[in-house]
Amino acid sequence: MGRMDDKVALITGAGNGIGREMALAFAAEGASIVVADASEDGGRATADAVAEAGGVAGFARVDVSSAAQVEAMVGFAMATFGRLDCIVNNAGIFPGDDGGVTETPEATWDRVMEVNLKGVWLGCKYAVPALLESGGGTIVNVASFVALMGAATPQIAYTASKGGVLSMTREIAVEHARAGIRANALCPGPVETPLLAELMSDPARKARRLVHIPLGRLGRPEELAKAALFLASDDSSFMTGSALVVDGGITAAYTTPE
Ligand code: NAD
Repeated sequence: MGRMDDKVALITGAGNGIGREMALAFAAEGASIVVADASEDGGRATADAVAEAGGVAGFARVDVSSAAQVEAMVGFAMATFGRLDCIVNNAGIFPGDDGGVTETPEATWDRVMEVNLKGVWLGCKYAVPALLESGGGTIVNVASFVALMGAATPQIAYTASKGGVLSMTREIAVEHARAGIRANALCPGPVETPLLAELMSDPARKARRLVHIPLGRLGRPEELAKAALFLASDDSSFMTGSALVVDGGITAAYTTPE
């Protein structure tokens, strides 16, 4: 008996990092997975990995900032599996030139908002009717701990986009609570994925980040996948509109251990 038996879960950005681990974890609990990603290679690799582990997965290529493509992605899920029980809006970007408020290029701000904020809205916009048609379901929107804390190593557009994800998730949760849809946000701390690898390749920058993490290390993608599984499944049946923080203690700390 799996926690996601007979469920269909669509995960955006599942072609790499945290999303790939979510796909594997959800499939191991019995869900059929729609792996949605802009990268054909990454998405197909995840779908293959799910199948190799004995699970069921289909791949949908999508740019989550395109309404037409997101609508087609949800259509693919319904056409392939006949229902939709869960969407995880996980796709996100973290461009290198997203920095302080005065330096960040306008084009970078716009693209980050299109993918990280509009992309989550579009995922919800097209998934909600499919979830309702399937008798209700769950939405997990991936934000970040930076939606809750300020950083002296700023990524102004990224941070603003993740704050938007949190407030949007609350409103979607309240609007659809009585219709059987629960929506929660996941706020990861720094996690060892390709997204963070470039930033952490500089030892000084890595040390600067690690010093703020009470547990003294980065998170692992599978640790976030477990938290997403909790929010996606009936294990979190009395939670909606919440932000689940999985950050190694960052947001709890004023100072950290030596
Ligand atoms: P990642 O870069 O490893 O993977 C992201 C995936 O999203 C990639 O497969 C990429 O192809 C896909 N993607 C990018 N733009 C897309 C688009 N427009 N449409 C569809 N797919 C697209 O990233 P990750 O670290 O696994 O991050 C996943 C989520 O977790 C993101 O929302 C990120 O902001 C959030 N997060 C990550 C960290 C971290 O430290 N890694 C911390 C907090 C929050």
